[in-house]
Amino acid sequence: SSDKIDVLVYGPLRPILEKGFPDSFNVHHATTQADLEALPADVKGRIRGIAVTFHTVKTDAAVMAMLPKLEMIASFGVGYDHIAASHAGQHGIIVTNTPDVLTEEVADVALGLLIATCREFIKADRFVRSGEWSEKPYPLSVGSLRDRTVGMVGMGRIGQAIARRLEASLVPVVYHSRNPAAGVANRHYPDLLQMAKDVDTLVVIVPGGAGTNRIVNAEVLKALGPRGVVVNVARGSVIDEQALVEALKSGTILGAGLDVFEKEPAVPDELKAMDNVVLLPHIGSAAIVTRNAMDQLVVDNLKVWFAGKPPLTPVPETPVKGR
Ligand code: NDP
Repeated sequence: SSDKIDVLVYGPLRPILEKGFPDSFNVHHATTQADLEALPADVKGRIRGIAVTFHTVKTDAAVMAMLPKLEMIASFGVGYDHIAASHAGQHGIIVTNTPDVLTEEVADVALGLLIATCREFIKADRFVRSGEWSEKPYPLSVGSLRDRTVGMVGMGRIGQAIARRLEASLVPVVYHSRNPAAGVANRHYPDLLQMAKDVDTLVVIVPGGAGTNRIVNAEVLKALGPRGVVVNVARGSVIDEQALVEALKSGTILGAGLDVFEKEPAVPDELKAMDNVVLLPHIGSAAIVTRNAMDQLVVDNLKVWFAGKPPLTPVPETPVKGR
């Protein structure tokens, strides 16, 4: 067994990850950072790869320092703000994520969430279930997809997949990102506030982390105006949640559809009490077919790396040396 490759599954257990590793791997588990710290020193000394199964565990410099033989952090999910990727890069550790395989799934959820918010699907569902429909028809919705211009906050893989869906629905789309996206003809706004002044709808799909922390703030929300709708399928950190609560309460904007929150799984009671929001429990990619593909890509990155080949999906912070 000494020639086996020791890998650690770090975070909540995921069935495919458990079954997917070849016999040449010796698989250890740590659900939390405390579990990781409690692993015997000789095990920590042998671990060469980690499969990070969820964004709820942080793989920071301290974790990497505990694992002196670490070569690869294969992270589940496309967003990797819970991994200290630059630090890994400086220490010759490869970080991989799971892009592309979830793009269309998350785009489906974003468009569904936008329509559900504008046309009040959840409130209308409650209306049917409560029996109110037998007394009166459902009131006309103030919101509609028909008269909107969507400003995408982020126009990467998923942003472009959302934009395609919106354009098929005849909704005009513009976008904000730091640089114009290659091959994208929609109007680009280097300035988010300027875009917010020109549109009434934001669909947020940028990475989390310091660069995007609360970029959707009170001023941006106010600029959307009273017809304003915000959909967030990115990370809770991108929107100033308290400012959003205030904007929704005061009618500064019309509504919001949120798949992500600042302190998941905690959701502010004020949001839960509102009728003009649709709240989802971070399910953007959470369909069996897509989660299986993501799990498989985590396993495959580790498999190819320890077979001496280049990783399939390294992140830009960890460029790969020749293999
Ligand atoms: P990409 O890397 O393909 O696209 C990211 C986009 O964000 C680019 O347009 C980029 O443009 C822009 N961006 C990055 N940093 C900034 C910044 N500081 N200010 C403004 N724009 C910025 O990523 P994906 O489309 O594949 O995924 C996007 C994110 O979606 C993930 O990182 C993840 O956090 C989230 N996500 C959420 C899911 C869910 O379950 N709700 C599921 C999947 C993903 P530029 O670099 O020019 O600024």
